[in-house]
Amino acid sequence: MNTKLLTLLFIIFSTSVLVSDDLMNPTSYSKDLYQIPILDGTYKDDITHPDEFLGFGIGERVAAPWQITSALKQWSTQSDRIKIIEYAKSHEGRPLHAVFISSPDNINNLDEIKSDLSALSDARNINDRQAKSIIDKLPAVAWMAYSIHGNETSGADGALAAIYHLIASTDDDVLNMLNNMVIIVDPLMNPDGRARFAKSLEQYRGTAPNYDDQSLLHTGDWPYGRTNHYYFDLNRDWFYLTQPETKGRVKLINEWRPQILVDGHEMGPQDTFMTGPPREPINKNIDTDLIKWGNVFAQDQGNAFDERNWRFYTGEWHEDLYPGYSFYVQFRGTLGILYEQSRMAEDGVRRPEGTIQSYKESVHHQYVSTLVNLESLLNNSKEMYRDYWDGRKYNVSKDSEYANQTFVVLPTDNNTRLNTLANKLKAQDIELFQNTKDIKVENVTLQSGQLVTNYTIPAGSMIIPNRQPEAPLIAAILEFDADIDSDVLVEERQKSLKSGSSIMYDTTAFNFTMMYGLDAVTVDEHVDSNLETWKPSPVASEITEDAVIWATNGEDDNSVAFAARLMEQNVEVRIIDKESTLSDHTLPRGSVVVLQMDNPDIINLQNLVKTVSNELNISVVSIESGFGPEELPDWGGRHFRLLERPHIAMLSHEGFNSYDVGVSWWSLDHHLGIRHSLINASLASYGDLRRYNTIIIPSGRAIDDYTIDTLLEWVSQGGTLIAHNRSTRFLTSENGIGSVKQLQNTFDESENYNFDLLREIYSQYENVDKDKTNKNIVDFGISYPWEELDGALSESDLKSRDKWQSIFMPSGSFVAGRIDNEHWLTFGTPNTIPVLYSNLPILMARSYVDTPVRIGQMVTNNEIEEPRVINWSSLPAGNDLNVRMSGLVWPEASQRIANSGYLTRERIGDGQVILFSGEPNFRGATLGTNRLWLNAIVYGPGLGTRDRITP
Ligand SMILES: [Zn+2]
Repeated sequence: MNTKLLTLLFIIFSTSVLVSDDLMNPTSYSKDLYQIPILDGTYKDDITHPDEFLGFGIGERVAAPWQITSALKQWSTQSDRIKIIEYAKSHEGRPLHAVFISSPDNINNLDEIKSDLSALSDARNINDRQAKSIIDKLPAVAWMAYSIHGNETSGADGALAAIYHLIASTDDDVLNMLNNMVIIVDPLMNPDGRARFAKSLEQYRGTAPNYDDQSLLHTGDWPYGRTNHYYFDLNRDWFYLTQPETKGRVKLINEWRPQILVDGHEMGPQDTFMTGPPREPINKNIDTDLIKWGNVFAQDQGNAFDERNWRFYTGEWHEDLYPGYSFYVQFRGTLGILYEQSRMAEDGVRRPEGTIQSYKESVHHQYVSTLVNLESLLNNSKEMYRDYWDGRKYNVSKDSEYANQTFVVLPTDNNTRLNTLANKLKAQDIELFQNTKDIKVENVTLQSGQLVTNYTIPAGSMIIPNRQPEAPLIAAILEFDADIDSDVLVEERQKSLKSGSSIMYDTTAFNFTMMYGLDAVTVDEHVDSNLETWKPSPVASEITEDAVIWATNGEDDNSVAFAARLMEQNVEVRIIDKESTLSDHTLPRGSVVVLQMDNPDIINLQNLVKTVSNELNISVVSIESGFGPEELPDWGGRHFRLLERPHIAMLSHEGFNSYDVGVSWWSLDHHLGIRHSLINASLASYGDLRRYNTIIIPSGRAIDDYTIDTLLEWVSQGGTLIAHNRSTRFLTSENGIGSVKQLQNTFDESENYNFDLLREIYSQYENVDKDKTNKNIVDFGISYPWEELDGALSESDLKSRDKWQSIFMPSGSFVAGRIDNEHWLTFGTPNTIPVLYSNLPILMARSYVDTPVRIGQMVTNNEIEEPRVINWSSLPAGNDLNVRMSGLVWPEASQRIANSGYLTRERIGDGQVILFSGEPNFRGATLGTNRLWLNAIVYGPGLGTRDRITP
């Protein structure tokens, strides 16, 4: 053995000593999977390469939000091709940036470009010649946005690469592009969700790369990274505008009116890559020019993928009916382009054919798509501007399909809700008006679908004539029904019958007024006289010291927060459960009152009332006398009911629907702002539940039998338990709580349920035949509602029908809820409330349970001379029942859910159980049913449980 070899052996031994607790090296690295560089241009030296910010090669791993932010900040000091604008801060305080990239000349000229775009959007102010000269000088404008779902990470990494490429490249093609184009990159639309997912990537990383898409590294865990801080899906929020990320972003997009908006997502890991254009159903208010352009862009993108041997497809599951995706921009004339890259985060994923697709390749797909789309825009920008201008002219012309269409929101005392609606509409540049005098019109359509002739629009309505620049968007979000083609319906019905599947990707009903539970009509003419610009009703409080009562109007949603926030500050608060008139002030049922006499120990009570009403922007009146004239309630009587402060817990975590948990949590913070605890559901069986008098169980399947027993005990001792959707399904199953059942378990006693229902219906009848009543001789001609029935169904008929009807349940449509207008749960609610319905538990309750909201609006129809049967229930002569309000509700489904409960309330021991069949706070936008939920939480402990006197 020579000495050289000896030395070598020595070195090998000395460096490879491994002790048993050393971390082993993996046998291979994921960064070696994909060797093609993403950034392959020639670049300026004075712009920092992204690899330096990241500490790894771009696309090799997921960049954390802070890394992206620090890169942007650094680049904005290094380059004159870039300007960054912080358009919002997330709930967790992370900045959201729009990155403007263009030639230095254009960057210095952004304000003028923006104002030209704005001028081009309003065809009432400029003519064709002026439009042409604007189009001639305008650069193309693109909005490129990524990773709105936080765990769909490749988009933001691709965006980071693209930003660098555009600001650092010395290539002539890039310089030419920047001379003729403003590129706005929104690299990170959901930083909180991405931060959550990036954290879980750190936490679940082991030594070796992991290509198994079932591992925690790939899936993350509850509530997952898709959503934002309050678990909202930000890609459903684009016109409901409930989240700060969306509010800031939409404001800036609407100011800029880009020609295209790219929205880079990811989908299932075993998929490939999908882009637009969408397939049917497509919302009818989208300009067909955009579908034409969608094909042009898809063709170019497809060619680029072909060249690189990358698989892709278009259409398939990508439909476009719901206007709350990023594609809301299409209704404003912007082409929306969707990317769906299969999800690789972060090493890569093993596929059925045995190959591993790497994360870096998925980032490369996003990057190439981005640059190809920009190139297509560069080539077609002028022609797209000309199409855009034609569209804008059409929207304001008297010949458009929208020209003779006016949306009217009827007057209401619910100022908080109406102002919220106005705020959302204005954010979309929609022009709002109001009428000071009544306006007579010929034909209107009510929300029930009923047509009414010679209608009077009452003074004080909100009026939106649809001959204005954003007409298609207005129609999309305010029309009562989105039109769906017959052949789409055929396909949907066939799919339901064959396999129980659906081609509807989202809800089929979404219009604003029904979401908000605001009464509205559509007029089929252009209403434009006697209008003034809409403005909010003034808040006029007179809070005088010598008043005996201070009161706020119970129709306003913020009256609930008024009660809640005062109670949290130890003020005793009452609510009037019947309409009253005190000192000439009319107070509807549900009005919240503070009595000086109830609160002898609170110094400065008057100031406290003032502060809270100011925070909530609601009017408070001062009342000098507690005397209600004639039959009306007086302040010492039983209609002035004492409330009890809610101490709230909400069950959460694994097993619960994170959207429902999140939106309910969000509502507590945004609609009440009072203290509450989210608790891990597993704690419910051993924690100290006596701290709470109100427990919310969001939709889910996370409660076991032991927890149910504990909750039952807690309810009996005076608790208010509130459950939603799937948890309601569980509570109404065999091992549940209370006596409410689901429809399919009641067919053996249908007659009893119908008997109770008829009692309820007849209790609303207002006419009595006095002569007949006062006859002394026994009347042998009395008719009993159930005896006249033809065609009552047997138990086995009902079962078969139910099985068939259950195939056709809706997937997010509005049905009419009729309310018990004497029940405290319906304070602030009109007689008919649109209820968002899907495959929900169908609730059945006997008369000893309250059913404050039932499905079906009773409509008088004197042509109906006989009572009629609907499944288990029956309808007296002289009545029709409206069930469907908006969206796809098959007639079989209408029959199935007719007369069932949407909301029930049952006393158990000293407490109560309140069951919502659905999710009352859906997307933070169903303000109609949200009010029922707020009533349950804030008024439940005082009005629905046994009063307790603490010794
Ligand atoms: Zn997505």
